[in-house]
Amino acid sequence: MELFKPMGTTPEESASEKKGLEVKEHVKCLILGSGPAGYTAAIYAARANLKPVMYTGMQMGGQLTTTTEVDNFPGYPDGTDGTAMMEDLKRQAERFGTEVRFGMATKVDFSGKVKQVVIDDNTLIEADAVILATGATAKYLGLESEEKFKGYGVSACATCDGFFYKDKVVAVVGGGDTAAEEATYLAGLCKKVYMIVRRDVLRASKAMQKRVFNAENIEILWKHQTKEVLGEQVVTAVELYKNKGEANEEIVRIDIDGFFLAIGHTPNSDIFKDYLDTDEVGYVQTVPGSAKTNVPGVFACGDLQDNTYRQAVTAAGSGCMAALDAERYLGELE
Ligand code: FAD
Ligand code: NAP
Repeated sequence: MELFKPMGTTPEESASEKKGLEVKEHVKCLILGSGPAGYTAAIYAARANLKPVMYTGMQMGGQLTTTTEVDNFPGYPDGTDGTAMMEDLKRQAERFGTEVRFGMATKVDFSGKVKQVVIDDNTLIEADAVILATGATAKYLGLESEEKFKGYGVSACATCDGFFYKDKVVAVVGGGDTAAEEATYLAGLCKKVYMIVRRDVLRASKAMQKRVFNAENIEILWKHQTKEVLGEQVVTAVELYKNKGEANEEIVRIDIDGFFLAIGHTPNSDIFKDYLDTDEVGYVQTVPGSAKTNVPGVFACGDLQDNTYRQAVTAAGSGCMAALDAERYLGELE
């Protein structure tokens, strides 16, 4: 259902389109997303008495809830569990008065001074300032066979699904930190882990690479790309191109039980694109050195606007910036 039109809609049209949607409430500061960026923004906004209301989205706690070990977030000398860390952040945000609600923004209208956001297609919230912290979502290769076996051997979350592959053979696609981490995690559970890497180097940090190289049951298939995921009811094998596009290109097949994607993420910016400037991938663009977007009163933080660092601590830092920018903006409105 088209609830709002992008900027340029006449007030009459806009009013008729919103028919049936009652404004549930008007809030000072609305935060969308409950990852490290959203919760940090909430802590700062709540302490500044902005009475933030947060909608968590479908993944309460964000991406870190899909990982077991977080070793590099400052303040945890012995490391911590991703889900536990996000629960701590939630409690900290709530301690200062953030109202955390389960719900997903499905439509926005940022054309007026008062920002409008529809939650779950049925609740309209108006806000003086909006902080966007909707993060990013795992990418898939786009193969039909991959789609067919989603949930039947194809997964984008080793820590969620790895347990089902105990003592089995699996493959992880990708060469970044996520792939390295997932492969290492799976190596602790599975008999054998193949890493399908399209280049002859890993993008992962040196520390993560070391873990991969030290695991005896991880085999890296350098310069391999997925052709098809194979099976009847569930995944049983994968067909790969080796040295694709080169004179010695060949097709190889490996028998596997599980196929894990770890090839990066797409920013969750689709519903904002009619109003906000994004780069070619969809990352929301912010004014350098701030969390300001091209729309006054709308601020963006975390992985939604960060194609470079994409770390929990940088997401948290930018969440702090978003709340401080929102506080200044609201101060100037009064
Ligand atoms: P996210 O964590 O992506 O959270 C986005 C939030 O937005 C979610 O709560 C989601 O439900 C919500 N949302 C989405 N759409 C909507 C909507 N329409 N309306 C309302 N809410 C919405 N980084 C590290 O620093 N250390 C690590 O050890 C580490 N390990 C990682 C392991 C894995 C497996 C992955 C995938 C990432 C890891 N990262 C790590 C990266 C880190 O998780 C991210 O950089 C960080 O979570 C980004 O935080 P964020 O708040 O921007 O967004
Ligand atoms: P990433 O750094 O973008 O790496 C994606 C990997 O997938 C790259 O190796 C890329 O290959 C490969 N890839 C992309 N598309 C592909 C395709 N179509 N077919 C085959 N391979 C493909 O993403 P990420 O690993 O998810 O990491 C995201 C961010 O989170 C990073 O900043 C990372 O540091 C952070 N993170 C940190 C930790 C940690 O510190 N413990 C853990 C996880 C993630 P190329 O290299 O050839 O481009």
